[in-house]
Amino acid sequence: MYSIKLKKGKEKAVRQLHPWVFSGAIDQIKGNPKNGDVVMVTDSNNGFLAYGFFNDKSRVAVRLLEWNVETEINEDWWRHKIRKAVQSRENLANEDTNTYRLIFSEADFIPGLIVDRYADFLSVQVLTSGIERIKPIIIDELQKLLDPKGIFDRSDASARAHEGMDASSGGILAGLEPPEFVSVKENGILYHVNIADGQKSGFYCDQRDNRRLVANYSNGKKILDCFSYSGGFSLNAFRAGAKEVMSVDSSALAIDTLKRNIEINGFNHIPHRLIQSDVNKQLRIFREENEKFDLIILDPPKYAPSRSALTKASRAYKDLNRLAMLLLTEGGLLATFSCSGAVDISIFKQILAWAALDAGREVQFIDQFAQPSDHPVRSSFPEGEYLKGLLCRVS
Ligand code: SAH
Repeated sequence: MYSIKLKKGKEKAVRQLHPWVFSGAIDQIKGNPKNGDVVMVTDSNNGFLAYGFFNDKSRVAVRLLEWNVETEINEDWWRHKIRKAVQSRENLANEDTNTYRLIFSEADFIPGLIVDRYADFLSVQVLTSGIERIKPIIIDELQKLLDPKGIFDRSDASARAHEGMDASSGGILAGLEPPEFVSVKENGILYHVNIADGQKSGFYCDQRDNRRLVANYSNGKKILDCFSYSGGFSLNAFRAGAKEVMSVDSSALAIDTLKRNIEINGFNHIPHRLIQSDVNKQLRIFREENEKFDLIILDPPKYAPSRSALTKASRAYKDLNRLAMLLLTEGGLLATFSCSGAVDISIFKQILAWAALDAGREVQFIDQFAQPSDHPVRSSFPEGEYLKGLLCRVS
């Protein structure tokens, strides 16, 4: 087996079970491993540390898999990891919910593999060259475990590019082609998901628990759902007795899907407005129109893709939250999220404190949101924690 010797002092993170070895930590590559090969990582004295996937095109040169020298990474090892991840989600499936994440990359000890369940269909993302090699094993094991109608490839091209991989050809990996809209259920609400063309892998299942929590505050309220996508927060608010809901998203496909979702759930009779617009622009328009809301949801895309983008992203979060605070009634609620890993909860609170000062409002944090159990955070891999949110009372 090829081996990778680390520079002196660089073994510490590996010993602490962190799953990444950056290229700068490498002293010597013994042999000529190809991308996707399993290699042995050693300390500067050639002592065994761990096994992992090699990739010289990635900033993360080795993604670690196994810390026990005697364990061989073979087909059985992979099947076992897949089985464990899938079985750990069994408690999530019930008659109200048939969509959730089955496998979440490093968080499930399978770096570069993401699998989402959409009722009878599975959507798979293959984001590392090591995973690309074992794709047939993955597909076979998923079929054995779940017997899906079809498995679809939705690998994100830009994530693959970071690994020096070509955009995947996509398409059907096994079974049937999914219909244009797969009908799924989350917390008893129906959604049409476009597996082939929708954003991410079609649906943001990481907000499942938070949609329900925010709905608890929706009864009788006038609500603004910003960055609504297919309506996760809006639909939960409708069901919880919202008086009126406005949903804003810049994507035509998102608004179109939300419209369908309102219909299939029979929420047409509740006053609503679907606005295809840039949120920042729309919030300013509402301000000019003197529009006020009792509850505003802000679920923007990732503003800080890396730590280096933190300053710029903090400003963008602050400005967005400031604008929303100005539109709230006295004592109104702001449910605000950040899915940037670089913005941790304490930074996020600080940003909101600045926004409140600029808006001339007083803010109380009354609840906190996180990512759900199908998006676990490994204690050795804090980078896997990305989604956080705060419920603020604004007076
Ligand atoms: N809240 C959604 C998920 C939001 S994902 C849910 O529960 O499913 C982020 C969304 O923001 C995407 O739908 C994207 O189309 C939209 N978006 C990105 N930038 C935007 C902008 N500047 N203005 C409005 N919408 C935007």
